[in-house]
Amino acid sequence: MQTIHETQWRGLKILKTDKSQISQGVGYVEFAAFYKSKGDGQLHENSKFIYENGQWYYFDGVILEPYSVGRNEACWCGSKKKYKKCHGK
Ligand SMILES: [Zn+2]
Repeated sequence: MQTIHETQWRGLKILKTDKSQISQGVGYVEFAAFYKSKGDGQLHENSKFIYENGQWYYFDGVILEPYSVGRNEACWCGSKKKYKKCHGK
């Protein structure tokens, strides 16, 4: 386990948002966050957020298997290039 200080976050991809329980104040966001520490890494998580007192709070999350970025998807680094022409090379 790396500490946050050793980790350099490089990009974030929001994969899915689930608003089906939003009227009960519950929302889910699935994301993949890409980082560099002693190599390339990724955090793929489905997180639960709770709406309370006019704000969204992180509740908990489930860690998922690493997300494989499709070759024609936008790269996670924010370059707006396709993955295959950017970090997917
Ligand atoms: Zn890239």
